[in-house]
Amino acid sequence: MTDTITVTVRDRTAEPGWGSGLLRVCTRKVEISISCAHCGGRRGIPKPTYQHEDGITYWVDTWTNPCGHVDHYASVLAEALVLAAARGTALPPTTTH
Ligand SMILES: [Zn+2]
Repeated sequence: MTDTITVTVRDRTAEPGWGSGLLRVCTRKVEISISCAHCGGRRGIPKPTYQHEDGITYWVDTWTNPCGHVDHYASVLAEALVLAAARGTALPPTTTH
């Protein structure tokens, strides 16, 4: 089995859209491969990072891959979904801030 890491990322698809009158930030803790999806190199080490948006403070994991490929949260979530589906499980629920 592939080695994995657990990261917390922002899931904008779970947030109410603009114009709904309410800003909610949703984060989700997911499992992804330890290897870069582009080149198979080892991913950087995730570090919790505080973010602020419209008075909401939340944290997500950020990391820098030594290979230089950038992991966007949308593709991280897509990868986590494939991994969860392969195991017959669903993604864990989001946390709303
Ligand atoms: Zn890479």
